Amino acid sequence: VERTFIAIKPDGVQRGMISEVIHRFERKGYKLVAIKAIVPPKALAEEHYGDLKARPFYPGLVSYMTSGKAPVIAMVWEGVDVIRQGRRIIGATNPLDAEPGSIRGDYTISVGRNAIHGSDSFESATIEIGLWFKPEEVY
Ligand code: ATP
Ligand code: MG
Repeated sequence: VERTFIAIKPDGVQRGMISEVIHRFERKGYKLVAIKAIVPPKALAEEHYGDLKARPFYPGLVSYMTSGKAPVIAMVWEGVDVIRQGRRIIGATNPLDAEPGSIRGDYTISVGRNAIHGSDSFESATIEIGLWFKPEEVY
């Protein structure tokens, strides 16, 4: 079976979205195999979003993830097609393009505060799970 890395970003935590996110993945039939609250060190946030280094919003994105005003809830979810289905449950990057019924579509309006992250491919899922979790932290 497949695994993906899902993270509730600090704005999602501040807004009380933890239970809602977990509920949506669980009710679909996916299994939570790792979870922790963490304020990521700057190096971790930079590496996580390394493919966006050249983008103008990158410094703001890294400081938003690392501010410490709230932690990130880092999770690994397991199940059939969970990488692609997870992206559908989350919705489009820009909340104004995200379908109603998706998390971003239902709860957010700003691309810079879009509440949740999901891996976009098998390769990035593998890399991101390895970045955020030690093997013994995953069930
Ligand atoms: P994520 O990787 O967080 O799941 P995504 O895969 O939908 O989001 P990416 O292109 O990987 O989208 O962008 C990563 C994150 O960078 C977005 O979720 C968003 O928080 C931020 N971001 C993307 N585009 C912008 C933008 N134009 N302005 C500000 N922030 C942005
Ligand atoms: Mg992405």
